[in-house]
Amino acid sequence: MPLPIDYHTHPQAHSIKPYTPELLQPWADSARQRGLKEITFTDHDRYHEGVDFDQIEKLREANPDLKFLAGIELDNDPVSGKAGRLWVEKNWDRLDYVLGSAHYLPGDPEMFDQVTRKDEFAQRDLPTDCAHYVAELNGMLNRGGIDALSHLDLINIHGVWHPEGGLLPHFQALLERIKRENLAIEISTAGWRKPVNEQYPHVDIIRAAQKLGIPFTLASDAHSHAQLAEYYDRLTDLLKQLGIREIATYEKHRRKIISL
Ligand SMILES: [Zn+2]
Ligand SMILES: [Zn+2]
Repeated sequence: MPLPIDYHTHPQAHSIKPYTPELLQPWADSARQRGLKEITFTDHDRYHEGVDFDQIEKLREANPDLKFLAGIELDNDPVSGKAGRLWVEKNWDRLDYVLGSAHYLPGDPEMFDQVTRKDEFAQRDLPTDCAHYVAELNGMLNRGGIDALSHLDLINIHGVWHPEGGLLPHFQALLERIKRENLAIEISTAGWRKPVNEQYPHVDIIRAAQKLGIPFTLASDAHSHAQLAEYYDRLTDLLKQLGIREIATYEKHRRKIISL
């Protein structure tokens, strides 16, 4: 049976495109084709103006065989982050799911995860960047209002960092905090289309999360309906290999664990 959920999707992709049936229905069609049962829309909070809860409701009515969740990917954007957070607070009860992520390093107005920055990152002090990155995620957790963290080791997107002892030592304390705060993390196929060419997060981090009992959601981070459930065959193999047989789903921020 195909994996049933995709919990990280961007109908608006990289600009404000208000939710309409024309924008959303292709996501339903594509989900159905790929055997998905639940899709969570998690546009970037900087495009929150385009999110329309009534349109999601209409999509639900038009596609009763599928489940659509209202979500947002809240990040640490130095410009829009505060307004995004206020919007999340205001709409908390209408949202099912809030993903937390960090795309910015302190003092840098550009997203670090742009693939055009690979050469620059190959020259940088990655342990320090990673420490700043983890501090940014901790800042998100301090502010609260998050159900799960996305692409946990995104800082390694460029695939240029191979620390001795692996990535896990840089993430262990964060994982322990995630467990204490009863949050989930996603296993994302998006890294397979990036230079790192690995799912997020690295298997060492997934294994440590398993040991701690942190629940997982599944995600493609699709920025087009064509990318929904992308690389899910590969993800299926990975889950089997790791012995992951249960995943987390959400409704109005309440987690339900389902068996695969
Ligand atoms: Zn992201
Ligand atoms: Zn995303």
